[in-house]
Amino acid sequence: MPKVVYPLDSSKKFTDQKYVGHNRWHPDVPANVTVRPGDTFRVDCREWFDGAIHNDDSADDVRDAPLSTVHVLSGPFAVEGAQPGDLLIVDIVDVGPIPQEDSGPLAGQGWGYTGIFATQNGGGFLTEQFPDAYKVIWDFTGQKATSRHVPGVSFTGIVHPGLMGTAPSADLLSRWNRREQALIDTDPDRVPPLALPPLPQDAILGTLQGADLERAAAEAARTAPPRENGGNQDIKNFTKGSRVFYPVFVDGAKLSMGDLHFSQGDGEITFCGAIEMGGFIDLHVDLIKGGMETYGVSENAIFIPGNVDPRYERWLAFSGTSVTLDGEQRYLDSHLSYQRACLHAIDYLTKFGYSPEQAYMILGAAPIEGRLSGVVDIPNSCSTVYIPTGIFDFDVEPSASGPTRIDPGMGVPKSSF
Ligand code: ZN
Repeated sequence: MPKVVYPLDSSKKFTDQKYVGHNRWHPDVPANVTVRPGDTFRVDCREWFDGAIHNDDSADDVRDAPLSTVHVLSGPFAVEGAQPGDLLIVDIVDVGPIPQEDSGPLAGQGWGYTGIFATQNGGGFLTEQFPDAYKVIWDFTGQKATSRHVPGVSFTGIVHPGLMGTAPSADLLSRWNRREQALIDTDPDRVPPLALPPLPQDAILGTLQGADLERAAAEAARTAPPRENGGNQDIKNFTKGSRVFYPVFVDGAKLSMGDLHFSQGDGEITFCGAIEMGGFIDLHVDLIKGGMETYGVSENAIFIPGNVDPRYERWLAFSGTSVTLDGEQRYLDSHLSYQRACLHAIDYLTKFGYSPEQAYMILGAAPIEGRLSGVVDIPNSCSTVYIPTGIFDFDVEPSASGPTRIDPGMGVPKSSF
């Protein structure tokens, strides 16, 4: 096992740990730990809500989830010798749930969760159809995930960090803030909001205190969106064996990570659509000096995906086009066509006895594949969503004899209101 350079004590809150991480992006967050090119090391990560979501049969905690506190990130890690213009090579050597024999109170200790967030508190990809809060608890047995809330399904985890990235420069941060505020200004009262401006409330910026904290918290970027520095990309293929090349914008690169997922479908569509958990990640870092210029990677990481995908050979795929549910034609709108493909899949799965919420949760959490199949055939883009048939313990393919009805069990817990 590599040296644990960033330990977390599961019994303590994020802010009471030996090293206090951060939940906003800012170049002035001081590095907690320094590593060298060529080092391999272990980092512990809290689940993104720092323990606010519980292993029970109520979704009230998801309804009330404190979005101002996320994501709690481990780091920043300074990489010796890294300078703006370099590419930081990050190998994901290993990644997994909290190593512990018994299941405990924290997500990652033998279990994890998926949430549908209420429109009033974050929303999701299909928030018009699913405006309320729901939660599913998944149990981990080795690599496998099953749920008392979604019977008839089990799948192999595709463990990955939802979020990893380097610190922005002051200049890059101010660009983010300007362009996101301009978008918000087009419809400032929208629910859910178009973007999330800096929010000093609940901002944690490592060891920054007092006036330094106050100044930085007023401009530090929220962690929800992916940006030029990587960030919350939620790429399910960042599994063990991945190699990521991050642009470096500040001295030391200041790498941070968190938001570990046991599994996720492409798009993480329920917003908290992955199986969220705390755990560990083993990383190896190296540098390509001047690599941003050499390889034309001036922004946005490039990567080599991991090599430990679950092996599913047969898929049932659903397609959608850029036509609204009301029948209005839109022009090559791939967001809409992916929504329509997902809604078709949900409609289909309900014929087997699942509730729409159960079907939505399966699409968010299981290793489903999403694709932009066609983006040029005016006026319709075509998106597709591929479900591995092997995740079901019954025959999910269409046949002349009709669908087998499963017992949906207790179903997906909904929040009280
Ligand atoms: Zn996540």
